[in-house]
Amino acid sequence: MHWSSMTDKEVKKFYNSKPWKQKRPDILRRDCFECQDCRKRLEDARAAGVRLHGADTKIRRAEQVHHIKELKEHPELALEDENLVSLCTICHNIRHGRYPKRFVKRKKVVSVEKW
Ligand SMILES: [Zn+2]
Ligand SMILES: [Zn+2]
Repeated sequence: MHWSSMTDKEVKKFYNSKPWKQKRPDILRRDCFECQDCRKRLEDARAAGVRLHGADTKIRRAEQVHHIKELKEHPELALEDENLVSLCTICHNIRHGRYPKRFVKRKKVVSVEKW
């Protein structure tokens, strides 16, 4: 069966659909409302004997359900449990390459001024 990718409009419609609104809390419950990337970070650190600091030592509460294979490209997996994972907002942003401003290091800002 061939599936074509979704348009932005279809994606938006999907997130407002009844099947998604029923699926989303199911996935959060399945993952015990724990961010799975936070959990993995802790497990990896423990396995590697690395000591984490501050906010990284905790598993944050999952607030979002992420499509491992992007919804837009894989609409056929939109409601597949294996393609869904609960994440906190921070880990979700990282997965999508969206970093909140406070995580952007100042020294990365390139200044055009020469001192
Ligand atoms: Zn997280
Ligand atoms: Zn996502």
